Amino acid sequence: MRIRDVRARLIELPYPRPFRPSWAPEGGHRSMSAVIVEVETEDGIVGVSGGDMGHGTGPILLEAIRTWLRPQLVGLDIFETQGIANRLRYVAEYVFPRPWVVGVAVWDAVGKACGQPLHRLWGGDPSPVRAYASFGEVRGAQQRAEDALRVVEEGFTGIKLRVHADTIAEDVAQVAAVREAVGPDVALMVDANQAAASWRYRPDGTRMIWDFDRALATARELADLDVAWLEEPLGRHDYRSLRELTAASPIPIAGGEHNRGFGHLVHLLEDDCFNIYQPDANESEEIGALRMFGMMAAARQRKVIPHAWATGLGVAGNLQLCASLPNCEWLEYPYDPPVIVPDVFHVMLTRPLLPDASGNVPLPEGPGIGVELDHAAMEPLTVQQV
Ligand SMILES: [Mg+2]
Repeated sequence: MRIRDVRARLIELPYPRPFRPSWAPEGGHRSMSAVIVEVETEDGIVGVSGGDMGHGTGPILLEAIRTWLRPQLVGLDIFETQGIANRLRYVAEYVFPRPWVVGVAVWDAVGKACGQPLHRLWGGDPSPVRAYASFGEVRGAQQRAEDALRVVEEGFTGIKLRVHADTIAEDVAQVAAVREAVGPDVALMVDANQAAASWRYRPDGTRMIWDFDRALATARELADLDVAWLEEPLGRHDYRSLRELTAASPIPIAGGEHNRGFGHLVHLLEDDCFNIYQPDANESEEIGALRMFGMMAAARQRKVIPHAWATGLGVAGNLQLCASLPNCEWLEYPYDPPVIVPDVFHVMLTRPLLPDASGNVPLPEGPGIGVELDHAAMEPLTVQQV
């Protein structure tokens, strides 16, 4: 079953108001850019996937697909996933660092060819996956407490907050207000988004960088608030400090969402940098290889909870990965009303991926990643295609 074509389009999803994510608050984002990939076989099966393309990189991925990936993949057997993954690694090394979304589309085609959802092909658990509402903005403590109560009423049993205040006291005040509002039974996660050297954290565009002492002091404060994990407290290549922090912290330390490639992930694991590893099927490595990494982490009593700040299509691939791993307890579900909502993020799907009343996301019953593209909805949002 050979690959006949690899297509991609860049879409822009307009936000109802400017969004100021904690990792880039200056200016405000007016839309989400996403690349939709379609891998078609000679039998007419079309595997799909979607990756989010911040920093204006969407056109670069499209060009990488047009000039490198399509010529490399056309003619290959869709079931030769390891050979295909090696082609993606070549592109990641020399052309564009995150072509992995194409690998998800390949696996979607494999699932469709077999008539099975990926989590079934991979021997996973078909139960709905517990989802946490992943907030993106830093808002005032009172506002966040109200926001948190609302999503708990909708069914969520976990919430991830972002912290970027100048002082630990301000960061902790936000988390404390939310804990007070939602009570002891809701899981709270805290993301510091400190891993990228390029990100700005203040509205004026300057940086506020944590050092080891701030990270550990914050972790100790958050332990008193029963926080489930502290995410990306230090630079992503600061392996020694991450290891020491993980060893010293009273709460789990999470990270790795943008440490790309199998070798980097294994390096993190061998250095014992985190309690929880967060590779993303669209952004970190080929999704089949991430399953193997998940097993390696499980053998060391470490968890893998994929990063999935993505559109509904991007979440769909990671959802299959979550369900296939024995050491994954949560699905990241981007949800920060009134901007980050399914009406915006899931418009490319004929049926949005929605949590049930218990805050769990059911696995779609369809084969592959289990979703269908709404071509009519994508047409007016498309800005480029190859
Ligand atoms: Mg994160």
